[in-house]
Amino acid sequence: MEKDQLRYENMKYSRCGKSGLLLPKISLGLWHNFAGVDVYENSKEMVLRAFDLGITHFDLANNYGPPPGSAEETFGKILREELSAYRDQMIITSKAGYLMWPGPYGEWGSRKYLISSCDQSLKRMGLDYVDIFYSHRPDPDTPLEETMMALDQIVRSGKSLYAGISNYDPEQSQQAFDILKSLGTPCVVHQPSYSMFNRWVEDGLLNVLEKNGVGSVVFSPLFQGLLTDKYLKGIPEGSRAAKSHGFLQSSQITEEKIHKIKALNLIAEKRGQKMAQLALCWVLRDPRVTSVIIGASKVSQIEDAVGILDNLEFSEGELTSIEAILKA
Ligand code: NDP
Repeated sequence: MEKDQLRYENMKYSRCGKSGLLLPKISLGLWHNFAGVDVYENSKEMVLRAFDLGITHFDLANNYGPPPGSAEETFGKILREELSAYRDQMIITSKAGYLMWPGPYGEWGSRKYLISSCDQSLKRMGLDYVDIFYSHRPDPDTPLEETMMALDQIVRSGKSLYAGISNYDPEQSQQAFDILKSLGTPCVVHQPSYSMFNRWVEDGLLNVLEKNGVGSVVFSPLFQGLLTDKYLKGIPEGSRAAKSHGFLQSSQITEEKIHKIKALNLIAEKRGQKMAQLALCWVLRDPRVTSVIIGASKVSQIEDAVGILDNLEFSEGELTSIEAILKA
């Protein structure tokens, strides 16, 4: 079979909430390892391999770097040089919310910031539109109506096909959904963090999403790489925790967590999986989770992630054992 058909053979796609948008179970995020400080050839190889494995969804934001903006530039170059014929087969996202440029208009949730940031992202990626544009975080000092009207405007002006929010708590999310609905641009997706070590979404957010027919694509499902076998014998060179610009702090790698990972790893082995694969399957066990956004520093990690697709199910016994380890 042709490579262009093969890429869709093994990936599973799920409906994002009650929208018309289908997303792959595994998405690729470009927060780390796709920036100006990284090796372009490696970044390119990862994007191309991901796409060939059916990962149609690439998650970016204005500030991904370092330097900020450079992940979008890298992705733009890959698109231009390798994937320009495939734009309509890809879901490309961006976000605005965190600090991007100096002065009062370079972060948070004003209309001024969101609209100009979206324009900048399109320019960096060389795109006419993104597929999803997110408010990256709630802004306590800007009326929610203003932030949502900016998202609505971005969609209406054709700069994004869908609107999303990220890092909003359950109450803020409900308000955002109501406003967006009243404007005629329903929110299709929420992007929260979720992993075995970070379960806040279970405390109300997933219920709110389900009630509103909004999908979820969850980030840091491996807790930035901790939920793998990587840190079981210390902090290896080249890992995210060892990098000065990596966001995983060595203080987050506690003995208690390592103890739990060792126990979880035994369950993974019994399932014929790696620890990272178990952690991804566990996040996807909840049907309200549309997709997991993984990060990667090498192609083999993307292949590991896609390798879970024929072994997603858990027995009751496995889930009980995992729960006991996580709650201990
Ligand atoms: P993960 O929790 O998946 O961590 C990814 C890291 O885990 C990789 O860089 C790699 O680290 C390690 N890893 C991945 N697979 C394996 C494996 N098979 N074996 C061993 N180690 C592995 O996700 P991220 O924290 O990177 O977040 C994913 C994406 O989510 C981001 O790129 C971004 O798009 C999005 N995000 C959104 C946020 C928001 O506020 N909306 C915030 C944060 C992320 P190493 O480099 O050490 O090899």
